[in-house]
Amino acid sequence: MSSAPAALTGPDDILRYDYAGLTAEFARRFGKGEYHAGALFRSLYRRGADDPGPLPEFAANPSLAAKVRDAFAYSLPEISGRSGDGETYKFLLKLRDGYECESVIIPMRQYKSLCVSSQVGCKMGCTFCETAQMGYLRSLDAGEIVAQVMVARHVLKEPIENVVFMGMGEPMDNLDNVLQAVRILSDQRGLNIGQSSITISTVGHVDGIRRLAALAAQPPPEGFSRLRLAVSLNAPNDEVRSRIMPINRQWPLAELKAALLDFPLARRGDFLFMEYVLIKGVNDTRAHALEVAEYLKGLKACVNLIPYNPRLDSPFARPDKTDTADFFHWLMEAGQYCRVRGTKGKDAMAACGQLGNRALKRNRAPQAAAVVIPAAG
Ligand code: SF4
Repeated sequence: MSSAPAALTGPDDILRYDYAGLTAEFARRFGKGEYHAGALFRSLYRRGADDPGPLPEFAANPSLAAKVRDAFAYSLPEISGRSGDGETYKFLLKLRDGYECESVIIPMRQYKSLCVSSQVGCKMGCTFCETAQMGYLRSLDAGEIVAQVMVARHVLKEPIENVVFMGMGEPMDNLDNVLQAVRILSDQRGLNIGQSSITISTVGHVDGIRRLAALAAQPPPEGFSRLRLAVSLNAPNDEVRSRIMPINRQWPLAELKAALLDFPLARRGDFLFMEYVLIKGVNDTRAHALEVAEYLKGLKACVNLIPYNPRLDSPFARPDKTDTADFFHWLMEAGQYCRVRGTKGKDAMAACGQLGNRALKRNRAPQAAAVVIPAAG
């Protein structure tokens, strides 16, 4: 059964409860059920209105509305920074302990996508990534993940219909909270962002992929069969991958591939998205492209090729346009489906570690002053 994970500290944040969890809380605390809990859930997520008082379901029972108001806290985090390159923009949220997390609004053709963070910082240590320079500070709870979507929809008034877990952090390293957030985001009685419009992006955390695969096989409501999976591959072999992505020492490419082969794709047209950040002089030769194509044989995968967007003081360089075009053609010639993405804004969100977090790095201490973050790149 779904349930709300333990809160960090402070008031009981209503955003960490899924529908079943909120209903159970209403029964436990007030001796009431779905009639009242469901009304509040719908009002909160559909309209951003948390006061039960005006709801018809509470009209005959104002004392219940008062008790509900006292029991649950609903206060969206303050937007402490915002920057962008036109339509795509990032915003920072100041969390209740003073840490900040980053989210990115990305325009698509008919709607907008939101890239959310699952942690403050990251412990995966990818050498090309700016977030890795912050180290790991803490994981977000489900309410803090959901709050990023609520701010985008109800404060910034953005038509968010798609969510990608490609912001700060490794989602598989915080999977309970990520899945609880998915339950809440995808609930048709609330935000109604379908699971097929939610992508979990992982650095190659094999235990997490296997756990998600097992959950995907379960029927609804506990099943997550329609969630999409993206994997940051970024290297053609174990030698290169272990050098730039320490996770590979724990789960080398063979183990990763075995887990991906077992991962169920929901529909015939679905792909595993393999993100490949192309770094000049590191993973960009023809031999590397052929190794990647060979590695992906047997997987229904689409390679998203992203020219590296160097972080501050990065020892690695951005590839030239011709390097990227060559790598693309080598992959396609080898029979591997591939797309080339840009380095900024919308396209940069094709892989984690591709947008800078310089201000966050400076601002890693709790209670630090609000800052405006610089544009990516
Ligand atoms: S690239 Fe992704 S997984 Fe790797 S350190 Fe950066 S945020 Fe973490």
